[in-house]
Formats: sequence, structure tokens, C-alpha cells
Amino acid sequence: MEKKTYALGDIVRMKKQHPCGTNEWLIVRTGMDFRLKCQGCGHYVLLPRTKFERMARQVIGHVEIEQKQAAFEEQGS
Ligand SMILES: [Zn+2]
Repeated sequence: MEKKTYALGDIVRMKKQHPCGTNEWLIVRTGMDFRLKCQGCGHYVLLPRTKFERMARQVIGHVEIEQKQAAFEEQGS
């Protein structure tokens, strides 16, 4: 399978949907762990990269996120 790369600001459709019914997540932090924001309810989750890569289906969009804003997003969790 093709190795995909994911970047800060990517909106990713996951195999598993959040209890709110949305399966679209915004990447607000990359690295060893990925922090994702649910596009339905704004809930944050932290996933190890390997688990994230298994669960990610496809990138469906991208928004520009400043690193500063990403840090702010994390504080809001
Ligand atoms: Zn949700």
C-alpha cells in the first residue's frame, strides 16, 4: 500500500466515526502522536501515529493552521 503523509491542517476521513456521528477530523498536531479535532462537535483526541495511519481513510480537505493557532487549539482541549 502506498505510504501516505499527513500534514497539519489536513481534514481526514477516518474508518471509525465519533459518537457525534462525524468521521471527519482536523489534524492539529503531528509527530509521534497526532492530535485530532472532531469536525462535528469540536472534541479533541490524541492518537499514536501508527493507530492514526491505520484508521485514516483519505484526506478530504485542508485548512491553513498556524503553529501558534495549533498551540491555542491544544489549550482549548
Ligand atoms: Zn464529535
